Amino acid sequence: MNQIIEKKCSYLSNFFESAIEQKRLFHSIIFYGGNIMLQYLMALELARLLNCRDKRNALCDCQNCRWIRENKHPAILTISKIDNKSDSSKTVISEEQVNEVMDTLINSSDYHRVFIFCDADIKKLNSEEQKRYEEFINAGYNLPQTGSEDKLWYPSGINTTCFSSVAANSMLKSIEEPPSDVTFIFLTNNKEDLLQTIVSRSQAFYIGYVSSQTYNIDFLEKYFNNYPNFDKSQVLNFAKNLYSYQITNSLEPNYILDCLQYYLLQIAKANFDNKIILNFIFKDIEKIEDAKKMIKAYIKEQTVYENLGFYFCRK
Ligand SMILES: [Zn+2]
Repeated sequence: MNQIIEKKCSYLSNFFESAIEQKRLFHSIIFYGGNIMLQYLMALELARLLNCRDKRNALCDCQNCRWIRENKHPAILTISKIDNKSDSSKTVISEEQVNEVMDTLINSSDYHRVFIFCDADIKKLNSEEQKRYEEFINAGYNLPQTGSEDKLWYPSGINTTCFSSVAANSMLKSIEEPPSDVTFIFLTNNKEDLLQTIVSRSQAFYIGYVSSQTYNIDFLEKYFNNYPNFDKSQVLNFAKNLYSYQITNSLEPNYILDCLQYYLLQIAKANFDNKIILNFIFKDIEKIEDAKKMIKAYIKEQTVYENLGFYFCRK
């Protein structure tokens, strides 16, 4: 996949590459997290891998790859309140708009069709958005619309205001029984911002920065081996063991947390078909990101490990 993805979330690119190779990618996918531009890029990269007819790598320049980078592929559509609509509603993804998309699914296609659902505006960007925008453009990608010099197309997370229950419900059947070679991708800040009926029919992935090294995770096999069946009686020992491993080996707490994320991803890769476990795992990976922030805020490691331990308990 593209370098930005490799750098910022290589764990997921690896996961998706295997899923696509094994033809086991989910039909309905939710990306969630704070950086919607990164989610948008990830969605295009998935679309590219699904449609590439040649090298299937980051540098491939076959017609499908090129069209997707240029954002003009006929089978890869961004659906937002300002993209790909023919009615006059300006503030929402309308029911009519969704129905038009679903009607196109009746016809078969030579391509793997991907529909990217997000919110979007053409607006003045703040400095953070400007940075993300430039990173995206410099990587050789186009957005669905160019905007004008000081106002640019920028994606944001979908929520129940811009994507109402009426519009969302009108696509449930298509999500449940999609034609083969169709993938729906929803970009959002929080899964809770989407209708529960969509969430329950989709596979959700947290998109955020997770380190890309490989880690020696042997010590976790011992302390964490009955994940995801982790219970309260184990939490204190778990926290104590992580802490003493960290101190004995003079490691940074962030290294321990990276190891935990890496460990969970190995479990994810072995459980492609188990939606319940995958949901646990990606929630827990996100929680470990929060733990890194706590460390940054000078909260004691033992406390952070204990908090995590309690979070891992499902009962
Ligand atoms: Zn290609």
